[in-house]
Amino acid sequence: MSTSTLELRARSVGPWPMNAYALACPHTGQSVLIDPGADPETLTEMLAGTQPVAILLTHTHPDHVGALQEMRERLGVPLLAHPGPHFQGMALVDARPIADGEIISVGQHALKAHYAPGHIDDMICFAVIGGNDIIVGDTVFEGGPGNTRSSAAFQTTLHTLRNVVLPWPDEAICHAGHGPSFRLGDKRAAIEGFLARDHGDFHGDATWE
Ligand SMILES: [Zn+2]
Ligand SMILES: [Zn+2]
Repeated sequence: MSTSTLELRARSVGPWPMNAYALACPHTGQSVLIDPGADPETLTEMLAGTQPVAILLTHTHPDHVGALQEMRERLGVPLLAHPGPHFQGMALVDARPIADGEIISVGQHALKAHYAPGHIDDMICFAVIGGNDIIVGDTVFEGGPGNTRSSAAFQTTLHTLRNVVLPWPDEAICHAGHGPSFRLGDKRAAIEGFLARDHGDFHGDATWE
């Protein structure tokens, strides 16, 4: 593991498996926990040997926040999230809002927040500055974009793919909320092909091909 960037850790948690992540500074040991979806013991183990400084959310769907309250109590660190509105009007008490493009320090390194609405309005992707890792939540998966609940949301997803995701470099490694991570360059042609097709008033589950 290179020490020139943040160290990535991942665990699959919950009954409908989702990927929780931690990013740790190899110099200071400071870390952030991203998406405490379930299994507080597993999340605590993932953070072992680090000093958590914040909890970050990619978005507020229940599978991504199932252990949020428990982990806030265990860690006693600030919660950083999109200002909302959140899933079904959920209130995030005492959360610090993240602005689009905001830089979030983790020890001697940092993340950049990218708003990525579509699957849900409060989605944020977190890109490691100076590294290739991007925590993308449910924005994009290896096989397709995140599910959408309306044709308007699907149109928003298309806009996000074009203006947020595709501008990332080919070397970017997208770490999704479910399933395997993938290199953006390996999916770029498929995503561009998807964007070039006429989807009409579609919404729901889509695949790239
Ligand atoms: Zn979701
Ligand atoms: Zn999810």
